[in-house]
Amino acid sequence: MTQAVRVRFAPSPTGPLHIGGLRTALYNYLFAKKHGGDFILRIEDTDQNRFVPGAEEYIIEALKWCNIPFDEGPGTENKKGPYKQSERKELYKNAVHSLIEKGRAYYAFDASESLEKHRVYHEEKGKTFIYNWHNRLKLENSLSLSKEEVKIRIENGDRYVIRFLMVEDGTIENFINSTDLIRGNIRVDLNLLDDKILFKSDGLPTYHLANVVDDHLMEISHVIRGEEWLPSLALHHQLYRAFGWTPPQFAHLPLLLKPTGKGKLSKRDGDKLGFPVFPLNWKDPETGKVSPGYKEAGYIPEGVVNFLALLGWNPGTEQEIMQLDELIELFSIEQVHKSGARFNPEKNKWFNQQHLQQIHESVLETQLIKDALSNDIVVLPQEAQKVVGLIKERASLLTELWGLAAYFFKDPEEYNPKAVHKQWKEETPEILSKFCAFLNTASLSEASGFQTEFKTWISEESLSFGQIMAPLRLCLVGELSGADLFEIICFLGRDIVTSRIQKALEKL
Ligand code: GLU
Repeated sequence: MTQAVRVRFAPSPTGPLHIGGLRTALYNYLFAKKHGGDFILRIEDTDQNRFVPGAEEYIIEALKWCNIPFDEGPGTENKKGPYKQSERKELYKNAVHSLIEKGRAYYAFDASESLEKHRVYHEEKGKTFIYNWHNRLKLENSLSLSKEEVKIRIENGDRYVIRFLMVEDGTIENFINSTDLIRGNIRVDLNLLDDKILFKSDGLPTYHLANVVDDHLMEISHVIRGEEWLPSLALHHQLYRAFGWTPPQFAHLPLLLKPTGKGKLSKRDGDKLGFPVFPLNWKDPETGKVSPGYKEAGYIPEGVVNFLALLGWNPGTEQEIMQLDELIELFSIEQVHKSGARFNPEKNKWFNQQHLQQIHESVLETQLIKDALSNDIVVLPQEAQKVVGLIKERASLLTELWGLAAYFFKDPEEYNPKAVHKQWKEETPEILSKFCAFLNTASLSEASGFQTEFKTWISEESLSFGQIMAPLRLCLVGELSGADLFEIICFLGRDIVTSRIQKALEKL
């Protein structure tokens, strides 16, 4: 029987979920759902110094907003939980003691000052201090000290850590081959690795121990995580071996790169270029500073998810616009790229614009009504419906809707000076007065009918389209941009159109 697919997203609650973390979550989700498996959220909160209040709730909210819910995690039915490492301390203790019993882990009492001295001494000689097979018997640990002394030191309450015995004897060859689903075979010389700390002096496990123990106990079949964990792969494989457990399969995702393509994408890049790198607004609990989120900046989850999915993967075709169910169907971990993926904020917006055209218009209408209201303007549902249809194509972000629609509901406050200079001619006032007279007789019930009547009128008057359209648009919109002019006129109706023309004639 093949093993059921179970993957996990294992963030540390050290701050808001960065867009890179969100992509890791998404790839895990896509992989799980593609294979009919489960997506698990595990909160890795064993580093007490870096714990940030509110971060866990933020992560859960963010996954919910993206429509990538977890099957198991904090607050769900406890199948293989608890799902927070701080609630699993006993399990790690038992695990590390089983390694001590097997001779694969040992107590180390070295004070940090003494280790620091060794480090400096090595550095001065141009070397690196590595705590492992070649010096462990010269350091203070349960392998170098007598059994009796170790017992006394522990009973005395001396501070200690527990280290992993990476290799017993480094004078013989100790290579390990691990397979990464994206990167292929990875060969590492274990003799060069250190005896990593598994248990800290504060009585809590390190990431390495907790992560491996949990992945085993939670029956994780595939570990899909960021490239920064690739150097830990050999250690993790060795841990599985030492425990006598079958390791899961591994896949390390490519880095997200700055828009320039050089270096890792950071929050500062977002601040500098004005794009969010977080899914939701995040208020720093210490400074109170708010970092902008996609949601509040007017992005929709469909656009964000589609954009993120293609940062490091594509289905092997030209297809770019995909809904979540299509992404699930097409996703394949083997097709994920090895090299870093450049973050392009313009493309990010483009995906949003494309998805705004596809989502249910009621979402856009609700947003428009809400934004109008915060500008003290009441927009009726049927008005919102009509206007959204006319402007949505131009909107990349939800937050742009009101700016694109405002002239349907309020008179322009100013007229673009450049456009006025170019389009407002001597004969313009007279032409516009004639137009007002024509408007009194025309039928405005439907834009296409009105357009036909208008065309007949300008040919009777021997006017050109250009002579009237641009000035008229300036009167009604204040700009030369905007929706179809005949639609605007029919929406506004005779009285408003006439009064806007009068107003412009007075001002210009
Ligand atoms: N807690 C680790 C992180 O936040 C998890 C890495 C992993 O997925 O193994 O990056």
